[in-house]
Amino acid sequence: GKAVFKRDKPHLNVGTIGHVDHGKTTLTSAITKVLSATKGAKYRKYEDIDNAPEEKTRGITINAFHLEYETATRHYAHIDCPGHADYIKNMITGAAQMEGAILVVAANDGPMPQTKEHLLLAKQVGVPPDNIVVFMNKADEATDVETRELLEMDVRELLNSFGYPGDTCPVIFGSALCALEDKQPEIGVEAIKQLLDVLDNKFVLPERKTNEEAMFAAEHVYSIVGRGTVITGKLERGVLKRGDKIEVIGATKDGKPVESTISGLESFRKTVDRAEPGDQLGVLLRGLGPKDVKRGCVLLPKGHKHVATDAVKAQLYVLKESEEGGKTPIANYFSEHVFSLTWDSGALVKIVGKDFIMPGESAEVELQLNQRMFIEPQQRFTIRKGSKTIGTGVFTELLK
Ligand code: GDP
Ligand code: MG
Repeated sequence: GKAVFKRDKPHLNVGTIGHVDHGKTTLTSAITKVLSATKGAKYRKYEDIDNAPEEKTRGITINAFHLEYETATRHYAHIDCPGHADYIKNMITGAAQMEGAILVVAANDGPMPQTKEHLLLAKQVGVPPDNIVVFMNKADEATDVETRELLEMDVRELLNSFGYPGDTCPVIFGSALCALEDKQPEIGVEAIKQLLDVLDNKFVLPERKTNEEAMFAAEHVYSIVGRGTVITGKLERGVLKRGDKIEVIGATKDGKPVESTISGLESFRKTVDRAEPGDQLGVLLRGLGPKDVKRGCVLLPKGHKHVATDAVKAQLYVLKESEEGGKTPIANYFSEHVFSLTWDSGALVKIVGKDFIMPGESAEVELQLNQRMFIEPQQRFTIRKGSKTIGTGVFTELLK
């Protein structure tokens, strides 16, 4: 019969990142080979992983290989992308949900431009400081002790420069190819086991969304005579209860929050005592009128630390025509329409360091929105012209 998914171990989403040809796919294959010995994985051959079928998500062509494996203590989903452009796209759009990253650096080559770009992206999409490990691959080609020491120093410095703990981050010298070919076990199979040990014991599990501060983005606002104002939408994270004191932000022009108390919670016409992440809700707010809230505003518990903002940094990917994007580049200082959560706003796009972003390219941008909205780092957005998505990105830093 069909296998049933058992949720009996903590789960983590990880992936290999690093410069082209440094051995990400070979390492991915080697991990499955080593774990297949304990029935923790189905062995995936190199060719199978590198020929990942293309998928379409929101019109964007996604090329990536997702596989799963488990150790004695954890279950992992692992992503490996075929090319540099695929990493950029998948990480910005969120198609590669990495909560932990294995940075592969060829020991006979050292950190290269894409090593840096992937580290920056990992930081921008919120891979936590503890959840990064360096696998110095091709150790069979770099046996000199002094060379290895210098390289390790280089990589640690690089990690520090991207805000990762370079001094304490685990760095493992190994050879994915040796592990695959059952050669030199100390840099082969044993190094893979060391790597898995780091994943199991050093990587932290992301906090379960129920334990996080509540966040609810309003899709619609209704006024009910005699009862007040109801906002509907999905509870993104945290828990909401009747009687909770809340603040609405992103509903007023000046950015001032509006306070209220939840006087009722409903889901599909039934009363809800305790709403959990993912619930579709109607939230009844005491004492508020239809002018106090609007589609796109966000509800947070009183005491939260957020402010509505209209200036933000982001990393933006511009879709190609073959991805149902546009033919024309996005130009510096042009006005575009930005969508995120349930809000949308006109925005002036300032491109950092260049004049255009061509379709298929990504760049850092600064957005000046027409109004103050709820934005937090790692939140995704799209840029649309009419009904067409021409760009997609991730907010990285609030500018005020
Ligand atoms: P990716 O582009 O980062 O996914 O790199 P690949 O996994 O495709 O590897 C690129 C090349 O490096 C291939 O020819 C591999 O066989 C080779 N390679 C991978 N790991 C090792 C290793 O540990 N030692 C040596 N000598 N070659 C390796
Ligand atoms: Mg590869």
